[in-house]
Amino acid sequence: LGAPDTSYLDSLNPAQREAVETLDGPVLMLAGAGTGKTKALTARIAHLLNTGRARPNEILAVTFTNKAAREMKDRVAALMGHQIEGMPWLGTFHSVCVKLLRRHAELVDLKSNFTILDTDDQIRLLKQLINAAGIDEKRWPARQLAGMIDSWKNRALTPGHVSAGEGAEFNGLGVKLYAQYQERLKTLNAVDFGDLLLHMVTIFQKHGDLLEQYQRWFKYILVDEYQDTNVAQYLWLRLLAGGHKNICCVGDDDQSIYGWRGAEVGNILRFERDFPGAKVVRLEQNYRSTPHILAAASSVIAGNKDRLGKDLWTAETEGEKVRLVGHWDGEEEARWVGEEIEAMHGGTRARLRQYSLDDMAILVRASHQMRAFEDRFLSISLPYRVIGGPRFYERMEIRDAMAYFRVVCQPDDDLAFERIINTPKRGVGDKALQDIQVAARSNGVNLVEGARIAVADGLLKGKAKSGVAQLLADLDRWTSLNVQQIRYGVEDEDALVEDVAYDPAEIGHIELAERILDESGYTTMWQNDKNPEAPGRLENLKELVKALEQFENLAGFLEHVALIMDNDSGNDGEKVTIMTLHGAKGLEFPVVFLPGWEEGLFPSQRSMDESGVKGLEEERRLAYVGITRAEELCTISFAANRRVYGQWQSQLASRFIDELSPEDVDVTAPSGLGGQAGHMAGHMAGHGAGRYGGSMTMAESPSTFERRAAKADVYNSPGWKRMQERAQRNASPKPPITINAKATSSFTIGDRVFHKKFGYGEVMEIEGDKLSIEFDHSGTKKLVAGFVMPADQ
Ligand code: ATP
Ligand code: MG
Repeated sequence: LGAPDTSYLDSLNPAQREAVETLDGPVLMLAGAGTGKTKALTARIAHLLNTGRARPNEILAVTFTNKAAREMKDRVAALMGHQIEGMPWLGTFHSVCVKLLRRHAELVDLKSNFTILDTDDQIRLLKQLINAAGIDEKRWPARQLAGMIDSWKNRALTPGHVSAGEGAEFNGLGVKLYAQYQERLKTLNAVDFGDLLLHMVTIFQKHGDLLEQYQRWFKYILVDEYQDTNVAQYLWLRLLAGGHKNICCVGDDDQSIYGWRGAEVGNILRFERDFPGAKVVRLEQNYRSTPHILAAASSVIAGNKDRLGKDLWTAETEGEKVRLVGHWDGEEEARWVGEEIEAMHGGTRARLRQYSLDDMAILVRASHQMRAFEDRFLSISLPYRVIGGPRFYERMEIRDAMAYFRVVCQPDDDLAFERIINTPKRGVGDKALQDIQVAARSNGVNLVEGARIAVADGLLKGKAKSGVAQLLADLDRWTSLNVQQIRYGVEDEDALVEDVAYDPAEIGHIELAERILDESGYTTMWQNDKNPEAPGRLENLKELVKALEQFENLAGFLEHVALIMDNDSGNDGEKVTIMTLHGAKGLEFPVVFLPGWEEGLFPSQRSMDESGVKGLEEERRLAYVGITRAEELCTISFAANRRVYGQWQSQLASRFIDELSPEDVDVTAPSGLGGQAGHMAGHMAGHGAGRYGGSMTMAESPSTFERRAAKADVYNSPGWKRMQERAQRNASPKPPITINAKATSSFTIGDRVFHKKFGYGEVMEIEGDKLSIEFDHSGTKKLVAGFVMPADQ
């Protein structure tokens, strides 16, 4: 055997190389955006594997989002020149912890098939407890309690560890309700997101022998976006790295944007104390962005007092200035962005090259900003993907359908059962539900069993009785089909295929899902619904069944949905990305749009209301994160009017716009826009003064405004009135055009293809849009063509 190929080291600069080759002992890499921290971390994984220091499953690598984890996996594979067999411990804190917790659930009194509750379920549960405690839910909202509990969990505090002072918040009952909530979760065999880490920290603290096993097992630990870890995550890492101390953390204090969720930048400073002798690597060359983009970002972040301070430079010399554009309202902004994207995609923008839709991203401060872009792009048939924010899986019909799947997979999931018991209507009113709850509680069983007892003991009458009895019979049938399916499916995928062939009664999870939705009457419910949104909901349900194709069984799918932060379903064709600034951390795009830079939106109203500068500084870091995502072109925009929670508001351009270094910014007038001098200015100055009368001095307000208005010269341009009129007329959309329509069945038998999960394979059969593919390493699978890419593209 020849020496291992270490060519991936050649593309690193000396500082990065040092970080990669210092394999043993603690390493901290602290550096600004785009300096190649993630690149170095990835090379380090490749180097660990390549030098035989560790096998893939002995490396623990945590990143911040699922998307980042996926990218890192792909990058490692690319560096190594081949797919890595199993890197099971590369993921988010949550995804790694859920895997560990399933192994050791019994140590915290859970069963290994526990459910992961989302915020909605969590709130519902807390409401019940608050009501039961006899406090007024209106004065003491469940959301507030949820926030308190989260913050305790983020700090790894179990109910026993919460301080008396804090515990007495929420009308004196905070910690008591927290304890009750934890008990309820146990009986439901469920956890919330915070529990995933809290339970693992508890387990490791209590079971030293188990901890030691894992300390030996995970030979090397790597952490990206370290500045955003919270205390619980930090403790967990410290416990796991406590033996060999082979831990490498990379981060940037200027990009710490999760303070509101309990992240502590202090963890960076603590690192050197907890891991004495740590090698600290600093990187200063930015390889991502052009000089203007970098300078504009630096000029904004310079406004923060509380920073370690780092120098950044780039060797590049060319490039466009950051563009600044003002619009009449949010719809106009979306329309303009859509046109820009089409022009750049078509390659018709002067001085600019042609861009793929995948190259372009819209990064919003608040997810409600997405709707305008989604609507606009739908109407002009511009393909887009939404990552994070209000997602597909949060839509009502999807949540209903998944509640059915949840009960089938996990009968203890009472919240899911409550959701479906009278959806569609089965004549089960509040009274009947209460009777079932009482039956369950007094017999110490879950609601499904409680319902059984209620039917058997005659507690339910008439329609409720027959309705519940029917549902129970359905559930039993689906559950038994699901159990068979898991028996054959999970252990050995090929066996599933064979068994289907031998036993015609055996069905796969996709058919099972379809049956559940049909037999429960849920699909019929929407078919009979005359509301205009009903057809869309049916479409979504179809989409849901489609999504199942990527999984082996319902349970695997449910776990996936609980964990994902994006709904990017498949790789079919190029798409513009829409996501939040928070979700974009660590990513990069040639072209970035940053809409909605307005006071109250960005910086957010809440951060401005907070006393002190902490909130504002975090917003400013977010602005820095946003600008530094751009490689070649960054466009910042704002609107003079915006509908916020159903009400029109006049907006002031963001203070961050003031902070941009003027020499790096071009003020661009939107096409077709002129302006009527002063009209807008007067309009907005009035509102500005009114809105900020309380928090800003009157003397300051107009002048601040005027400066912004002058800079964003939209208010002085000659077509402003025209535009106003048009906006009021509600300009009719252009006829739809189709960009890059996807040719689904462009495959022929014998084609080489690639699938994200199964790797390379060959098309054996084609049936409509479904392909039978023989994969080189994962057997034969039937997949929807949209999820498969032609190989070598
Ligand atoms: P962020 O703080 O935003 O997460 P980062 O420090 O993790 O940024 P990377 O994403 O690793 O930065 O790298 C930014 C870009 O620079 C990537 O496209 C990467 O490939 C490139 N890059 C990094 N290091 C080098 C290098 N030594 N030579 C050439 N390109 C590099
Ligand atoms: Mg990074």
